[in-house]
Amino acid sequence: MRSATLCLVDGCLRMQGHAGEHDVRPSEAWRFFGEADTRKIAKAGYATPRGGAKGAYQNHVYRNNRVIVPFEHLNQVDLKQFTDGYVVRLFPDQYFESAGVASGRFAEPDAPVVGQDAFVLYRSHQSLEAFPPPADWEVRGLSKDGRLVNRRGTGAVDTGEYVVRLSKGGSAFPKRGEGPPQGIFAPEYATAQTNFECQAMLAWLIVHARSSPYTTSQAMHLRSILEYCDLIGDRLERAGVTRNGLSICPLCLRVIDYDELHKAVDFSQVDGLLNAALQVDGATRSTEANLFHLEPLVYERLNHKPTSVAWGHATCNTLLGQRRCFSLAELQEAGRKVGFLDENDELLTFGWMSNDFKMIRSPHGAVWVQLSDDMSQAEQDAAFDRGEDRPLAAPAEEEGDAS
Ligand SMILES: [Zn+2]
Ligand SMILES: [Zn+2]
Repeated sequence: MRSATLCLVDGCLRMQGHAGEHDVRPSEAWRFFGEADTRKIAKAGYATPRGGAKGAYQNHVYRNNRVIVPFEHLNQVDLKQFTDGYVVRLFPDQYFESAGVASGRFAEPDAPVVGQDAFVLYRSHQSLEAFPPPADWEVRGLSKDGRLVNRRGTGAVDTGEYVVRLSKGGSAFPKRGEGPPQGIFAPEYATAQTNFECQAMLAWLIVHARSSPYTTSQAMHLRSILEYCDLIGDRLERAGVTRNGLSICPLCLRVIDYDELHKAVDFSQVDGLLNAALQVDGATRSTEANLFHLEPLVYERLNHKPTSVAWGHATCNTLLGQRRCFSLAELQEAGRKVGFLDENDELLTFGWMSNDFKMIRSPHGAVWVQLSDDMSQAEQDAAFDRGEDRPLAAPAEEEGDAS
């Protein structure tokens, strides 16, 4: 089927000969979707709730928004990539040396400046007592044309130096929340254009779920956009996001059934370990198949990008954790064949392993994931001395909360 032609005037991705304004991000390409799918695509464009209040994170906004960069991650990130802005989060014990005295490093020329590109977050009654805000500090606020406003938006600027998020700690320590949300979780950031391309990619993968109510002829515009951005064709099969044109879960490789995109996870069907992990994730309202990233979301790189998104099982996502999901093709290319010696000392190979040793796949679909890392002899001895068992799994990346 020949794809339709795009307008391409000033980067416009609407169809050639369209009426009205040009648009570089035309969501009309999936206008034929029913309500539930439209919502699912919209949601994939949002920064996900991260227990937002407690960390001063902003939820239910698009990914192309200002991010919070925790001070402890400042050295890992390229601040230029956050084209919608950033603000550095400091905990009181990071900023203050002693009560009322800022640590010397904040006098250095490149250091973040509280009240300008940084704020201090009080999350415990103890930190508020040990390092109270100096007398000339104010709670963060938003102002527009000299007046206080409630919403971060065009023209609104931040005022003040600190945010308070205290949970109730007995009658003497009431719950307190002062200052507006400061930004989204930085690893979820994407520019508006990248975010749109991810949505277009995910819409295409909904069309190609098994038993989807849509046809490829409805998706001609979508197809043209994805072809123009060089996102479909062999790439999807190679990345293990589709097989023979049908959307698959990138970890277990089972075909995604359309119903799985909308059916809530039945926790009684999930074994205890997974169940606990999912609940901790706050994903209790999760559907069976969700937004899945082939490369984990981290501070170092922006991985919410169209070549990294797919629909995958909630349970598979939990099993994968913060590991990269390699496809069989990638592992075969890396060329690390693994096997074992049988009783006749003959080598029987059964799959390929990733260069980081974290994943093995067999050509028949089986997958093995490394649960914990090797330790050096010194680390093993130290762990033994502390009386620790080895962890069952590497701890999942926290939401960036250091305390
Ligand atoms: Zn146009
Ligand atoms: Zn799966």
